[in-house]
Amino acid sequence: MGKGTQAKIVAERTGLPHVSSGDLFRENIKNATGLGKLAQSYMNKGELVPDDVTIAMIRDRLSRPDCSGGALLDGFPRTTVQAQALEKLLAEFGGKVDAVPFIAAAQAALVERLSGRWTCRAEGHVFHAQHNPPQKAGRCDFDGSELYQRDDDKAETVSRRIQVYFTQTAPLIAFYRERGLLTEIDGARAIEQVTADLLAVLRK
Ligand code: AMP
Repeated sequence: MGKGTQAKIVAERTGLPHVSSGDLFRENIKNATGLGKLAQSYMNKGELVPDDVTIAMIRDRLSRPDCSGGALLDGFPRTTVQAQALEKLLAEFGGKVDAVPFIAAAQAALVERLSGRWTCRAEGHVFHAQHNPPQKAGRCDFDGSELYQRDDDKAETVSRRIQVYFTQTAPLIAFYRERGLLTEIDGARAIEQVTADLLAVLRK
């Protein structure tokens, strides 16, 4: 169970729009846009998409009317530059970051989770070979579409993504802790327990 699945559940329960940078990139890839082509070349290698295009994409998304009452960001920011840009952007909109839940997981568990993950072609529903297998192998339980392994979930790419996480994203833990916004949540527990903690953090 990754952050994306948790974010979807929490967005539904709170009524906030779920704004996932990864989903926005995948949508662009599906629609074969220029941004999609660019993003794919980084995603396939497990690298981050450059800050400027990522920030522009999120700015565009957060400017839409459905985000006027707030949003649940998933996968953004992933670098200090992005976090600083987000502060500026939200200040412009008269908003701010309210809470940053940090779901902690051991590295071995991350590798296992990512490399066992299968995603549905139609809607991006996510399954896991061991932890959350679909009822029918290779088919989505929700819409019957084909399940595939994202290029960035393949074993070689997963180890690069973890490296990238430690060098580029982990500094955000200190960034948000200093601002008093970070709450650590133990990710090594049942899905519902993690969801309950996330909801509690966001209600505060
Ligand atoms: P995710 O679905 O959040 O795991 O994102 C999948 C991939 O999209 C990441 O491994 C990155 O290549 C790219 N990506 C998603 N969000 C960002 C971001 N905030 N900054 C740069 N690249 C991103």
